[in-house]
Amino acid sequence: MWGTASICTTSSKPPGTGNDTAATWLERRAAGLAMTRRGFLLAAAAGSGLRAAFPDISCIGANTAISGYGLFDAIALLRDLGFQTIEIHPMGVPEAAPGIFPGFQFDRLDNGMKRRIREALRPFPHVTAHLPYAELHYFSRNQPIAEFSARQVEIALEGAAYFGAHLAVVHPMEPSGYRPEEGWKVMVDRFHRWGDLAARHRIRLAMETGYPRSVGAFVKLVRDVDHQWVGATVDVGHQAHYEELVARIRPEQRATPEGIRAYNDTTIAIIEQLGGKTFHLHVHDIDPATWKEHQPFGTGFVDYPRLIATLRKAGYTGALMIEIGAPAAEMRRHLADAKARLEEYLKK
Ligand SMILES: [Zn+2]
Repeated sequence: MWGTASICTTSSKPPGTGNDTAATWLERRAAGLAMTRRGFLLAAAAGSGLRAAFPDISCIGANTAISGYGLFDAIALLRDLGFQTIEIHPMGVPEAAPGIFPGFQFDRLDNGMKRRIREALRPFPHVTAHLPYAELHYFSRNQPIAEFSARQVEIALEGAAYFGAHLAVVHPMEPSGYRPEEGWKVMVDRFHRWGDLAARHRIRLAMETGYPRSVGAFVKLVRDVDHQWVGATVDVGHQAHYEELVARIRPEQRATPEGIRAYNDTTIAIIEQLGGKTFHLHVHDIDPATWKEHQPFGTGFVDYPRLIATLRKAGYTGALMIEIGAPAAEMRRHLADAKARLEEYLKK
């Protein structure tokens, strides 16, 4: 089903099903989930039938993927910078480690730590999560590997729900050991079942661009999964290897106006073809010479005015989640700058 996506409004509801009700929130509370300030605000908004329209600057968010920071320092930094939307990583450990993103393995958190994380997230009206993928292989034909990997995703989804996330990003990855049509079916079936699980948690699942490596195949994946609670995360910098783009631009043409135009065209084409199935966005900049992504804003060629115009046309009401990779000491400056730039783009 192809409907309108929304996270910065009444959240946890599938597209086109009317407003979430206060009763839904009470059910969540009864299910032992956190009734945070966000819950109350959203229940109130749902009750009044209010819907904020994109662009609402509260949709500008950032993730805790700040290498060298501990989880609580990363959350505090985003809070200090005034972000109202945050993406957490239910994988890894909360302690700071050089070159590694902080996060948590939900089934290994004790109650004290769970409370501490929930408390730290309380200032954020909107929480999303990025489900684990590194070193996992949930579409392996080797069943023990596939089962272990799928279990990690499901534990993370449970953790995301516990901390009040209403959207979770998941990475499609290439099936192995299967014939192509078999592998496709395994992938589609798995995402459909995860859609059912996510729906029970009242979380919308957003498959991130990158694999399959073409606009046509990625959009087909979303259509084939065909689940009310499953849509897409469009990462502005994950299209470098897409068939349509590689067919137009040779590596030496990357930094040319044609190369830059073609890259932006590819990202826009995905959003146009997905319509209401674009649930979420990862934003940053792309280095013109190498097409290396996750660069600070202003250093690359992502055409934000065009992107935002396309999102408005598609009726997008989701988040703009900043994902920048840079040395820890520079992250405060880059995040503040990115937020200010996005606010300017949204005002226009
Ligand atoms: Zn991303």
